[in-house]
Amino acid sequence: MTERDLIVADDLVVSLDYTLQLDDGETIDTSEGDEPLEFIQGHGEIVPGLEQALYGMTVGEEKDLVVQPDEGYGELDPDAYQVIPRSAFPGEVELEPGLGLELTDEDGETMLAFVAEIRPDTVLLDFNHPLAGETLHFKVKVVGLRPATAEELDHDHVHFSPDGHGPNGLEVQ
Ligand code: ZN
Repeated sequence: MTERDLIVADDLVVSLDYTLQLDDGETIDTSEGDEPLEFIQGHGEIVPGLEQALYGMTVGEEKDLVVQPDEGYGELDPDAYQVIPRSAFPGEVELEPGLGLELTDEDGETMLAFVAEIRPDTVLLDFNHPLAGETLHFKVKVVGLRPATAEELDHDHVHFSPDGHGPNGLEVQ
């Protein structure tokens, strides 16, 4: 079976050229001039609206699609803000608005937050994804398809070299 016979389905590694724009036409992200995005279809590695739209596509096929916030990075949650005392941050952290922080809660879960505002004694953190509330406009092209290896399925991510974890350093476990 060659990749020409494959269509996008669960447990296949999809190589995808993509451009992501917002409503105002601003390009937020693109694979142009870079390697295509690679992920295992059906494993929730990309936003649900994009993953759903890819099913059945063939290698070489292109699509323009619009993904609403609830199928993208979620709606903007006005309650997803938290005030933290400045003393909670290590002295070497240079706080500035827009700075992304990786925080670990008491259960060991990692969360991403952004500095929304710096106040005299406290910092306002925004736990919304930076693209929450945005309608996403994708231009995509499937440039490769192959079955994921057993090890990739086990790890739930793509390996970039045949004998282990590749240069992209995706391995986080
Ligand atoms: Zn791995």
